[in-house]
Amino acid sequence: MTIDGPLAVYAAHPSRSRGRQLDEPAARRRDVFARDRDRIVHSNAFRRLMYKTQVFVNHEGDHYRTRLTHSLEVAQIGRTIALALGLNETLTEAICLAHDLGHTPFGHAGQDALNACMADFGGFEHNLQSLRIVDELEHKYAEFDGLNLTFETREGILKHCSRRNADALGEIGRRFLERTQPGLEAQVADIADAIAYNNHDVEDGLRSGILHIDALREQPLFDEACRDVMSKYPDLAVDRLIHETKRRMISTVVDNLVRHSEASIRALNPADIDAVRAAPRLISFSSDVAEAHLSLKRFLYKNLYQHDTVLAMQERARQIVTALFERFSEAPERIPGEFRHGAGPRIRDEDPGKRMIADYIAGMTDRFARDLFERGGSGAN
Ligand code: MG
Repeated sequence: MTIDGPLAVYAAHPSRSRGRQLDEPAARRRDVFARDRDRIVHSNAFRRLMYKTQVFVNHEGDHYRTRLTHSLEVAQIGRTIALALGLNETLTEAICLAHDLGHTPFGHAGQDALNACMADFGGFEHNLQSLRIVDELEHKYAEFDGLNLTFETREGILKHCSRRNADALGEIGRRFLERTQPGLEAQVADIADAIAYNNHDVEDGLRSGILHIDALREQPLFDEACRDVMSKYPDLAVDRLIHETKRRMISTVVDNLVRHSEASIRALNPADIDAVRAAPRLISFSSDVAEAHLSLKRFLYKNLYQHDTVLAMQERARQIVTALFERFSEAPERIPGEFRHGAGPRIRDEDPGKRMIADYIAGMTDRFARDLFERGGSGAN
């Protein structure tokens, strides 16, 4: 067995990584992707995910997903898929753990509000922000800013990107201009994210009382799993019914994804990761499961994400983020020194001062942003 282990030829092999932005000596006991994963886990941004909203604001209940537990579930699903396909499990894990590092406080509402505040200054994309964090905003290492991750991990973190930003990003942005694909580990991490949130949001939605089992049974994925549980355990308590249903739903879609992707990979027979990058997307569901998965996503959008209770939380989030942005725009000196970066962003340099404010607010946890808003004081804590 080589240092790369039993990896498929089309997987990301650590010994053939395109490398880091700044060359470093190899670690003694870890390959390059294990080192990336460990740097992500040790980052401040990763720990802050604990107090960032997924759908439900953190203080509403201890059992709802946060960005941190969401990221862990994404990683767990991603690793299962990667292993089944002979892909690099460690790289997949690293990408999954980092994929939401750039999320603002208060979930998508926070991002939309910050994007609106930044409309005249280059906008705000949470995905690009994840890359900014690992490339620049973590200030922990003596020899570089950011985490100095490998190309493959960074490629996976940048899932989406506008053409304008892609153009400014150089090598890592090139695939958005050429419309090519990333490696398979990145493709797996992308879809593991969707599998995780589709399923855990069903559970959180039911727990909150916003979603109801009867309505969900119109969804084929939910109905099939739920019927199976009820036929085997007709008297099951509702909490167990929900969990047993959810785990079956995940198994169904993961199994379908592995089988369908395996067939696509076999048909193409790519010689290496570059052949994968040049090919159409290879990690995908069969069309019927893709349709059912999308249908569930639409259901959640309509019945959970757009529900009055969630919208009310989001309106509050918008007020907080907007007010903080205005406050720091009027008095940028109130941003604590450690969050001030003078050089200005590499990506969009319309207004380095505004970008610094966006970086500071995006990094806040829900509770920090809320406390700061309510105190009306300075950014220091
Ligand atoms: Mg996510």
